[in-house]
Amino acid sequence: MRRPWHHLFHPANAVDYREAVGLTVDHLVGHVADTAGRPLTGITPRESAERVAAIDLDRPLGEEGEALAELSRLWLDDAIWFHEPTAAAHLNCPVVIPALMAEVLISGVNSSLDTFDQSAGATFIERHLVDWTAARIGYGAGADGIFTTGGTQSNLQALLLARGQQVAPVDRLRIFASADGHFSVQKAARTLGLGDEAVVPVAVDVSRRMDPAALGAALADSVAGGGVPMAVVATAGTTDFGAIDPLPEVAALARAYGAWFHVDAAYGGGLLVSPRRRDWLEGIELSDSVAVDFHKTWFQPVSCSALLVRDGATLGHVTWHADYLNPKDSAHPNQVDKSLQTTRRFEALKLWMTLRVMGADAVGEHLDTVIDLADAVAAELTAMPDIDVAAAPQLSTIVFRYCPPGRDEAALARINAAIRAELFDEGRALVAATRVDGRSYLKLTLLNPVATLADILAVVEMVREAGERLADAPVAPRPRGERVAVVR
Ligand SMILES: *Cc1c(COP(=O)(O)O)cnc(C)c1O
Repeated sequence: MRRPWHHLFHPANAVDYREAVGLTVDHLVGHVADTAGRPLTGITPRESAERVAAIDLDRPLGEEGEALAELSRLWLDDAIWFHEPTAAAHLNCPVVIPALMAEVLISGVNSSLDTFDQSAGATFIERHLVDWTAARIGYGAGADGIFTTGGTQSNLQALLLARGQQVAPVDRLRIFASADGHFSVQKAARTLGLGDEAVVPVAVDVSRRMDPAALGAALADSVAGGGVPMAVVATAGTTDFGAIDPLPEVAALARAYGAWFHVDAAYGGGLLVSPRRRDWLEGIELSDSVAVDFHKTWFQPVSCSALLVRDGATLGHVTWHADYLNPKDSAHPNQVDKSLQTTRRFEALKLWMTLRVMGADAVGEHLDTVIDLADAVAAELTAMPDIDVAAAPQLSTIVFRYCPPGRDEAALARINAAIRAELFDEGRALVAATRVDGRSYLKLTLLNPVATLADILAVVEMVREAGERLADAPVAPRPRGERVAVVR
């Protein structure tokens, strides 16, 4: 329908608004009903780029239905659907409905969380959630935090606060993180002007957890060489293995060296609400800061994440007063004083609606369910003679590969890459790839509480069946799905 008011949200167009949103929801639900066991179609970057490039943005369609139909061709027909159990590659979750209700309100009202005079009650909803999360961590009075765009931003801000606490010259500052830690720690070091060399990778043990003896040795070495330990980053749930570093031991070493202790719980933070596994995070309360991605193990839409700090005063390192926004003598509580961002979406409302409708236990039970599933899948995989499991799962990932006898590393790398590409190209399953100690592996990341053991074993069967076929295929460049130079 063509609407005179379609570009504005105004009382006069409430009827238009409801119709347009209803149309959009119907369109989406139609697509969801259509996916039926296919998480993707395997569209190539080339096809996708060509379709999008053909759109002339200077010629509007002027009508919602046509725009939605066009969008189906450009995106939705070939989208990646995370509610499908066979989408098992990334830490991107299926989302809960209360959070989607919140999304309607977040964008419709368009509060901005930088200042109280742009958000009113939203400021206190965010603060209440921060206090609640801090209490779950086990922080005492004086704790604080802020919602962020994701673990990457939380890690950056945590390290910025850590740097703010130091007086030593920047070129001597060092950050210690597990060799399996997230690359956003390196990016943060670079952003902060510390340089790539500032991050000292610490060896992991056989279960892929940071080895405290190795951390102790790395700290001692660094100090002996003139380094100043600025921060120790423990990971609670590494991206590949879900490994949770030994938090109490790491905390003790960080404290002994006067370093800021940050816990990157972007992945494992969901354990804060797990009815059965909260104790896996023991020691997290000893940290100076924690990153939690609600958009991973809390089943929230991207993006929804937070940085929590033990001592709220440390957030002062990001405070800047501007006369036009948050003057020093402002009588209002302004969240911008604690954030790297200025204009900021009310992402916290998604978590709020989820907790108010479903409750924390329901969220944690979902996470427990996917951890149980990962254990069950790993037990099956371990019993398969042609499958090599890299390590027992710790959260909800399983790193494994198809491994027929008598093949060298290069052959196994080729076969497993070909398996993954074929499943993607044919739109049958989305499986991840990673490298472990220089060897190529596949990875299942399970975040769908509705997925069953049978669903995931079906993916494993696809892997084995493709592997058997591809193991002896001639090495040839693949015709579809190859990297295309022009794709941006
Ligand atoms: C995903 C992840 C991050 C990055 O978080 P984003 O929300 O993607 O920015 C950081 N650390 C770990 C351990 C992660 O799994």
